[in-house]
Amino acid sequence: MLRAKNKTGLVFFPAFDWAISPTHPEREERLLYTQDQIIEEGLLDIPGITEYRARPATYEDIRRVHFCFPDERAVTTESHLISSGGCMVAADALMKKEVECAFALVRPPGHHATRIVYGNRGFCNVNNEAIMIEYIRDTYGVRKVAIVDTDCHHGDGTQDIYWNDPETLFISMHQDGRTLYPGSGFPTEFGGINARGTTLNIPLPPNTGEEGFLYVLDEIVIPALERFEPELVVNSAGQDNHYSDPITNMNFSAQGYATLTSRLKPHLAVLEGGYSIEDSLPYVNVGIILALAGLDYSHVREPRYDVEYKPQPRDITSFIQRLAKELNAYFVGEEHLRHCQSDGTIIKRSRCIHYDTDMIQDEQSELIRVCRQCAGAWCIHSRSSWGHKTLAVHNPRHSCPECTKTALEWFDQADKKTYQHVVLQDRANRTYVMK
Ligand SMILES: [Zn+2]
Ligand SMILES: [Zn+2]
Repeated sequence: MLRAKNKTGLVFFPAFDWAISPTHPEREERLLYTQDQIIEEGLLDIPGITEYRARPATYEDIRRVHFCFPDERAVTTESHLISSGGCMVAADALMKKEVECAFALVRPPGHHATRIVYGNRGFCNVNNEAIMIEYIRDTYGVRKVAIVDTDCHHGDGTQDIYWNDPETLFISMHQDGRTLYPGSGFPTEFGGINARGTTLNIPLPPNTGEEGFLYVLDEIVIPALERFEPELVVNSAGQDNHYSDPITNMNFSAQGYATLTSRLKPHLAVLEGGYSIEDSLPYVNVGIILALAGLDYSHVREPRYDVEYKPQPRDITSFIQRLAKELNAYFVGEEHLRHCQSDGTIIKRSRCIHYDTDMIQDEQSELIRVCRQCAGAWCIHSRSSWGHKTLAVHNPRHSCPECTKTALEWFDQADKKTYQHVVLQDRANRTYVMK
């Protein structure tokens, strides 16, 4: 009898009463078709594959990660809370050793949601992976986590959240940002001053096929994971690299996704994008579940694969081989990782974040304290085009006394007349304070 080699947990939450609009690509059918396919294939009847029921995350769970303005209620719906909470259920099943891996098939997605949230960016309001990881850290004491984002779009929100955190390795492989939303994810984005080298970006050319994805997985991603030695590997499992996806230009198949999953062996996978609702998502997700469970996935094939799938063009193959070589020399090279600022220096960074769905511009100026003892205190002055003026102060987990002092000073000295909201997210003391 068929039995899962690895005990696998599944959480489904299609959010069938929530969509950006009825015809928007990110809508409930994405998961309803997948759910049908999984039931039809009998995956839920296989011993060792267990379905878990989602529960909502709380605002406190969100506050470990985000600064939501004007508040959490204004930027989330019940669906967002259940989507994040579904990931936390998957995490509990893993951490309590009921399963060896788990896949949260939930929506709305989350990987474009950044530290500060004013609304929806790239179909995302809150970051499901980050909310899950910070819940795991607070509840189970895990420190080193790696996130491998295999969505076609750069995981810019997750990168932003973990930019300064040396205990989180964030790797994103995605379609080159010069050709696709959100237009970021270049190799020179390799982490903030206290976390150099814990962000790795692998931009791939349009038309990359499974050969290219598996090549960078073996040549770059797996060696980086071996160097970092995480306690947990999380996969932001976006299925929009599929050759039939309507909003991207890649050339990946369900079989390729399953092979990638079987080699990456994530402890936790969280669904991100994937908009080829009928032609690919059900098959890609079935392939991933079989691979997680350690079952044979060789028969998983899209209905029109024979007619539609084109192998990766040869010029793309040679381009990716050269790219992998360059990236490895760059990522492994120590030069740019060296910490050349002395402890206590305050570094400033300015940028503008664009919310494509809600049409908000956010002008940010960020200060971070250079620190070798901890991840470093930071604060963001933010001004949105909707008129918010806010100050977000962060004291990291395991912060040193000097960084804690700096964070508290930023918070205490902020003039309430200048800002509508002044917030301290104190991760060391597990509090979130507003004034
Ligand atoms: Zn995507
Ligand atoms: Zn410090």
